[in-house]
Amino acid sequence: MHTDILIVGAGPAGIFTALELLKKGCKKKITIVEKGKAVENRRCPKQKTQVCVNCKPSCHITTGFSGAGAFSDGKLSLSYEVGGDLPSLIGEAFAQELIDYTDSIYLEFGADTHIEGLEDTEAKKDIRKRAIQAGLKLVDCPIRHLGTEKAQRLYYDIEQYLLQNGVEMLFETECTTLLLDDENGVCLGAEVKNKTGTLSITADATIIATGRRGADWLEKLCARYNIAHSPGTVDIGVRVEVRSEIMEKVNDALYESKLIGYPKPFKNKVRTFCQNPGGFVSQENYDNNLAVVNGHSYKELKSDNTNLAILCSHNFSVPFNQPIEYAQKIGELTNMLANGHILVQRYGDILDGKRTWQKELMRSNLRPTLPDAVAGDITAAMPYRAMVNILAFIQAMDQVVPGFASYETLLYSPELKFYSNRIKMDEKLNTNVRGLYCLGDSSGWTRGLMMASVMGVLMGRLLAEKEK
Ligand SMILES: Cc1cc2nc3c(=O)[nH]c(=O)nc-3n(C[C@H](O)[C@H](O)[C@H](O)COP(=O)(O)OP(=O)(O)OC[C@H]3O[C@@H](n4cnc5c(N)ncnc54)[C@H](O)[C@@H]3O)c2cc1C
Repeated sequence: MHTDILIVGAGPAGIFTALELLKKGCKKKITIVEKGKAVENRRCPKQKTQVCVNCKPSCHITTGFSGAGAFSDGKLSLSYEVGGDLPSLIGEAFAQELIDYTDSIYLEFGADTHIEGLEDTEAKKDIRKRAIQAGLKLVDCPIRHLGTEKAQRLYYDIEQYLLQNGVEMLFETECTTLLLDDENGVCLGAEVKNKTGTLSITADATIIATGRRGADWLEKLCARYNIAHSPGTVDIGVRVEVRSEIMEKVNDALYESKLIGYPKPFKNKVRTFCQNPGGFVSQENYDNNLAVVNGHSYKELKSDNTNLAILCSHNFSVPFNQPIEYAQKIGELTNMLANGHILVQRYGDILDGKRTWQKELMRSNLRPTLPDAVAGDITAAMPYRAMVNILAFIQAMDQVVPGFASYETLLYSPELKFYSNRIKMDEKLNTNVRGLYCLGDSSGWTRGLMMASVMGVLMGRLLAEKEK
């Protein structure tokens, strides 16, 4: 089979590549290969079963049209300072211009017109003052909140738009490897498999946009085909949950507090990420049965709690260069302690050097929103450096948000972000293999819905320009 432009992965990066190609009037044949299902056929059974049943062949939360975005909270970060390192590749001003443009496409497809965190209120000033006193940086980032249920509707409309405009979509079809002309360093397409068998798809341009889930697969391809890349950082941390009363001021003034610190003694970068007022802690499963924690919030359905991630960036140098495997081992160990589930522990128990017991969770004001999380001891699996960083950061957070470091505050583990393998490319997104492009979270350059979408828009524009 031949196509002109082959996109592997129908997450925001892949989708916005196709959208922008259409918007620029591209007449080429565009094919999207996606190992999950169409967005209307994605259903996480946990809503009924209450426990994760580890769907096979793949998790509905992270695979299928709209990628990890469909069931995500749908918080669009509208500042170039948030969402990954793409601005360092293409320039901050251009990145912001692309964010504004991409945001207008989200609006076109029905995103909420309200933006959180725009005004410089007294409350916001007070939060910044407290952050300064605590040695933390408060990053200003306006947020457009789609909400999990509305995000699904929006992505469904985009899916229909792409189909109606002739984009071919092969669902439940997994890309297994690339077709490469090794001698000339050219990518000729990809090999895919589905229920009916294996298929070679040749293409003029092959775009890999396989998301966080596809990061380790892409890393193996890099080694096999000499695709230039560098090991980047790996983020290891916990998901913290508190009663919303504790976070009320921050939730009201900012919706999402993006705070960054470099606590002693290691001075590694530690940051808050993905804050969900009234949200729910969730579990996502990777192909190798690794269960990791995440969080999201609905537009209408609210819990009594707020959750957010605290992540520590880890860099490695010689001789070790496998950050994904490193983070996976921590995840596996944590899963093992929780019998395959997510582990949860009270902050106070960590300081007291004891595990948390299931019955003790019921004694708090705070009830876990992840009902099948297993009470235990996360310190038995978390590396010393990461644990020290997290505890120091929570103490600093307590100065900004009094009550954050309460005894009953819950820490869920493992929260891992696999964006470590960074594909080397120039500002036109060219890799060292002609005809091969890598986008979104799996490329290591983005870490969020908006920036992944922006990278897709840029890819679409660059390919459309080549057509002229
Ligand atoms: C629970 C949750 C909540 C989140 N909340 C937010 C939020 O509020 N705001 C925010 O900015 N970000 C959020 N994120 C992160 C955000 O969803 C991702 O950053 C974004 O989706 C990345 O886009 P992407 O296109 O690079 O990859 P993805 O969205 O991961 O899409 C990649 C796609 O590729 C497919 N794929 C993978 N491998 C193959 C293969 N070999 N063959 C074929 N298809 C393949 C996958 O099935 C998937 O559909 C959240 C993520 C999760 C899991």
